[in-house]
Amino acid sequence: MAWDFETDPDFQRKLDWVDTFVREEVEPLDFVFGSPYDKSDERAMAVLRPLQQKVKDQDLWAAHLGPDLGGQGYGQVKLALLNELLGRSGWAPSVFGCQAPDSGNAEILAHYGTDEQKGKYLQPLLDGAISSCYSMTEPHAGADPTLFTTRAVKDGNEWVINGEKWFSSSARYASFFIVMAVTNPDVSAYKGMSMFIVPAETPGVEIVRNVGVAGEPEGHGSHAYMRYTDVRVPEDHLLGGEGNAFVIAQTRLGGGRIHHAMRTIAQLRKAFDLMCERAVSRQTRTGPLASLQMTQEKVADSWIEIEQFRLLVLRTAWLIDKHKDYKMVRKDIAAVKVAMPKVYHDVAQRAMQLHGALGISNEMPFGGMMNAAQVMAIADGPTEVHKITLATQLLKQYQPVEGLWPSGHLPTLRAAAREKFADLLEHEVGNG
Ligand SMILES: Cc1cc2nc3c(=O)[nH]c(=O)nc-3n(C[C@H](O)[C@H](O)[C@H](O)COP(=O)(O)OP(=O)(O)OC[C@H]3O[C@@H](n4cnc5c(N)ncnc54)[C@H](O)[C@@H]3O)c2cc1C
Repeated sequence: MAWDFETDPDFQRKLDWVDTFVREEVEPLDFVFGSPYDKSDERAMAVLRPLQQKVKDQDLWAAHLGPDLGGQGYGQVKLALLNELLGRSGWAPSVFGCQAPDSGNAEILAHYGTDEQKGKYLQPLLDGAISSCYSMTEPHAGADPTLFTTRAVKDGNEWVINGEKWFSSSARYASFFIVMAVTNPDVSAYKGMSMFIVPAETPGVEIVRNVGVAGEPEGHGSHAYMRYTDVRVPEDHLLGGEGNAFVIAQTRLGGGRIHHAMRTIAQLRKAFDLMCERAVSRQTRTGPLASLQMTQEKVADSWIEIEQFRLLVLRTAWLIDKHKDYKMVRKDIAAVKVAMPKVYHDVAQRAMQLHGALGISNEMPFGGMMNAAQVMAIADGPTEVHKITLATQLLKQYQPVEGLWPSGHLPTLRAAAREKFADLLEHEVGNG
């Protein structure tokens, strides 16, 4: 009977270490330094490197990877328990070597890369020496990748890439890009697109502008509008074979989505703790906010929703460990992806509300959390598309009913039951 909600004591000790380490050593970095992806920031890197060494000493470096790639092969459940602590801080994933988008890019390089590609691009990424970018979405199409038009054409022993990409996160700090492009427009998009590794210094790679999310100054965000003009890469920079972009994207995005959800739990708990602290601290004429039933409702609803979400994430992580195949857990990951922005928004909004004007001010984190919740509703595919995936997968398990009445039709069920027990019922009547 392997059904357990306990964490094994050895790993719990590690988590306890992480909890203290992140609060005391890592969270302060968020207030002092810029982007963890900017490896040229020598002051920040001088602080970062010793912290990364402490993580390595605890055997917690790159915990999303197997031992062959320098991780510990902990699996997704343990990774979830770790990420729900790391998600407190923007810097923590970089301190622990599991930051998006590098983690997902490392996964696909490990999965599909040649030995040469691994040596040149994967190893420095795993070492935390460089940053990378995943460049898939286009300005005119995102949710439906079959509409992408960025084109790669073979010319001798090179590929020539032309097109535009949109919201390519961390492009400004990336040493290389993974770019999705049409290689054969005459077949289905599912077979006609390929992935390429494009070094950042390649002529023709241009950041048109760095787009920010709401709250960031215009032109100073981390999500690049990219233009690729006659960008030439050697043929060995094709990743995972011609026509395989969709398969590679699914491998990458499945993991990415669940890892975002794990980190979101940390933000939910942060908002919840602040909500409760405020409830017991702020006084009204009749007592603290905590004594008011509408405050109590906010606290109760938030706790239940966080616990429900966390269980869904952990169960999905457990399924990934069990099946070791994201395809088999597609509907579960879709469900997590749909649930995430709603619980994040609702909990952050309640915490914000209880803080009054202070809550909505830029002196508290709630505005950022509300934005982040909306990001979760869009990034890696919008909620609607994941609802469609979930419902389609669920409905596949059902067959149309034969005949006029649904299988739950009570008179039909009753008649069948009476027929099954006809002997007994006749006997009862006879006795009467
Ligand atoms: C913070 C952030 C970081 C990102 N980072 C990256 C990155 O690093 N690399 C990258 O390539 N991309 C990245 N993206 C892009 C992201 O993957 C896309 O924004 C997403 O796939 C949606 O595409 P879109 O914005 O073009 O929306 P659209 O495709 O235009 O969709 C807009 C809206 O239309 C509706 N809609 C669309 N399709 C359907 C449907 N089938 N059924 C019902 N309604 C539908 C939904 O409401 C949807 O939100 C990032 C996005 C964000 C917000």
